[in-house]
Amino acid sequence: MTITRTDRSLQKETIATHLGRPDAALGLVNWPVHRASTVLFDKVGDLEISGRQKFDKGKLYYGRFGTPDIFAFEQVVSALEGAYGTLCVPSGLAACVLPLVAFLKPGDHILVTDAIYEPTRTSLERFIARQGVELEFYDPCIGDGIAELIKENTKVIYLESPGSHTFEIQDVPAIVSCARSRGIITVCDNTWATAMFFRPLEVGADVVVQAATKYISGHSDIMLGLVSCQEQHYKTLREAANWLGYHAAPDNVFLAARGIRTLATRLERHYKTGLALAGWLEKQPQVRRVIHPALPSHPNHGIWKRDFEGASGLFSFVLDASRERAVKFVESLSLFGMGLSWGGYESLAIISDPSHARAVTHWKEDGILIRLHAGLESESDLIADLTGALALI
Ligand SMILES: *Cc1c(COP(=O)(O)O)cnc(C)c1O
Repeated sequence: MTITRTDRSLQKETIATHLGRPDAALGLVNWPVHRASTVLFDKVGDLEISGRQKFDKGKLYYGRFGTPDIFAFEQVVSALEGAYGTLCVPSGLAACVLPLVAFLKPGDHILVTDAIYEPTRTSLERFIARQGVELEFYDPCIGDGIAELIKENTKVIYLESPGSHTFEIQDVPAIVSCARSRGIITVCDNTWATAMFFRPLEVGADVVVQAATKYISGHSDIMLGLVSCQEQHYKTLREAANWLGYHAAPDNVFLAARGIRTLATRLERHYKTGLALAGWLEKQPQVRRVIHPALPSHPNHGIWKRDFEGASGLFSFVLDASRERAVKFVESLSLFGMGLSWGGYESLAIISDPSHARAVTHWKEDGILIRLHAGLESESDLIADLTGALALI
């Protein structure tokens, strides 16, 4: 008894465990990895037909266009996001950039949240703007004030909620509805929440991009990006991915497909531990401010509560200390590793400075911003580790 279609009555935990699995007749729980370049055809006519259909969803033609295991994973993601289709791409950053390249042409205007993931910002500034696209940043907390920034040539509005490092929660429904009524395409980076906690397509966004590198893989061992979209954009995006030569490694897709089966359970724990650490930090005298959307003290807590079903394990806090002391703090932690990315089973802590990557908003808090990722370790062990490091300040 295999569920082979998108059954909207199923809960997301069930979708994540049952969809995108091999045909029951095979008897396998999981798809094996299909490594392929050449796909063989018996008849000249079959090869020609396949060539004409190569941009259709789930069509086997040549390795670069995907294989059945990849299509199956894309199906689970689409069902979770409420998307018509999903594309696997080589990294999260590749997912962020694909819709920009696919939709924008010289003379177009794009509005971009000022709290955007910094590499996406760099990509916009270095490559997209160079193609004659007018790039304008907006305050992530602008809400329906976005209407005032929209111009005749506005083609895309780019959202990311919460903001990288600073965790502003955007009023996605308000921004999306301003865009919709004017025929503007909205692209939303949903890496932090994943479909388990927020589904931008359900509130009317056109495209969701995310790094499966983070929570979906969950083990800090792959790079993979996902682009999910409404039906009217699927072909444009799939064609762009192929003409740009994007191809996601099937071994990475296999690990992401394995990760997504346990995503809901892991996220619950990341949420619980992250919130516990955030609440505890808020009471420490060395901490100026904790920035966690699920805390009532967060400036956009109300929007988070309205739109999100949970929070992941990633948040920030401002340490009341000099940079030198903050360096000592992160270096003396033993359970929190120091390194980029997040979403794995392990806890992380890094010093962050958003001030140089802002155009229309400003980061001018006294103290040092620390970004924490709450992993799957014991909460009390993590608090003991933080206690020890804070004692040095
Ligand atoms: C990590 C991240 C990305 C990029 O993902 P990679 O797989 O590292 O390229 C994009 N957006 C956000 C919000 C991220 O945190």
